[in-house]
Amino acid sequence: MRRVSIFGATGSIGQNTLDLIRRDPAGYDVVAVTGGHNIAQLAQDAVAVRADLAVTAFEDRLDDLRAALADTGIEVAAGQAALTEAGARPADWVMSAIVGAAGLAPGLEALKQGATLALANKESLVCAGALVLETARQNNARLLPVDSEHSAVFQALVGEDMDAVERIIITASGGAFRDWPLDALRNATLKQASAHPNWDMGQRITIDSASMFNKALEVIETREYFGIFPEQIEVIIHPESMIHALVGFRDGALMAHLGAPDMRHAIGYALHWPDRRDLPVARLDLAQVSQLNFRAPEDARYPALRLARDVMAQGGLAGAVFNAAKERALDGFIAGRVGFLDMAEIVEEVLTRFQAQKGPLAGLIDAPMTLDNVTQTDHLAREYADKVMNERAG
Ligand code: NAD
Ligand code: MG
Repeated sequence: MRRVSIFGATGSIGQNTLDLIRRDPAGYDVVAVTGGHNIAQLAQDAVAVRADLAVTAFEDRLDDLRAALADTGIEVAAGQAALTEAGARPADWVMSAIVGAAGLAPGLEALKQGATLALANKESLVCAGALVLETARQNNARLLPVDSEHSAVFQALVGEDMDAVERIIITASGGAFRDWPLDALRNATLKQASAHPNWDMGQRITIDSASMFNKALEVIETREYFGIFPEQIEVIIHPESMIHALVGFRDGALMAHLGAPDMRHAIGYALHWPDRRDLPVARLDLAQVSQLNFRAPEDARYPALRLARDVMAQGGLAGAVFNAAKERALDGFIAGRVGFLDMAEIVEEVLTRFQAQKGPLAGLIDAPMTLDNVTQTDHLAREYADKVMNERAG
């Protein structure tokens, strides 16, 4: 039996992970499951997989969780420190599927105890790529990509030498607004941004897909995970979401990874790696698909992609600033405080001030990448983004 933990179990990736695990109850011993405010879901999942421990991220929900799991024998805990402690519980395989920078600390703990970390939480690599990779290396722990594009690249690279790689092309569906006229975007509503044409995902990543911030994070994730130069990474709009990524080699060959848009593929690949096992995903019927389309992303429509290039050029803690500002701008959009196009402008403003070494982030531009520095940068960048939003509102 393999000992597994699922961080962010109540979310979209978490539920897909549990779906695979529940199909083979004899195969897994579930150590910990974690969630947020959705206590009923967390309790139900903890019971269904007979987890040892259930953790909610929010301390004020501990009593609810305790009540929901009374008499089950399942241990309960709450808060960020409890999440980190859960990451340190011995496990063979850990799914990192918390949304946002909050996923970083528990993931690092899992790596420190030598677990294989299946990384859906792309924010970990955006905020602290070097730290995550170094922690994995020092502890002989393996990091496996779960983002569909990065899983696709990882699979296309099996048996290949990185020296033979010329470029990596990740595909983007283009999100909810890919066919909207540009001038209509300013008035896009939360409801419209929360409907993805191809994938069924959590609300935050769905909105990030509409703004292309998700792809911007993924370009940085590609750079960090595969260690290639920014100019070797390309993004192409592919509305059908059937090719997830392509690797171009020095002989001109392109290896593409195709599959139905179902995250259980990437999760299952990371769960069973280095083997391949049967997965309950739809099989593509290419005759029925009949054609696949591609087009270049327009710069004017997707400023987030340009910002990702700036972040990669800056390096260091710029990724943590970028992600934190993006998270706050997204909070603002969800709360109805800022418009859809304002998000990129807010992030750019915070990044520009960081790069100009102005304001409270000034001293951090050359700071070494430790968890403390990443956390401090994250906090300050959030405050800064709030300040920028207030200035714009006033
Ligand atoms: P989701 O919103 O559906 O679920 C998020 C999970 O994180 C929930 O369990 C929630 O309770 C928990 N959570 C939220 N805030 C938290 C906090 N402050 N501290 C601790 N836990 C918290 O999100 P999702 O769509 O499943 O995405 C999870 C991660 O996977 C994200 O990093 C996302 O970018 C990545 N990802 C998702 C998909 C997808 O198809 N959904 C695909 C690729 C990558
Ligand atoms: Mg992706």
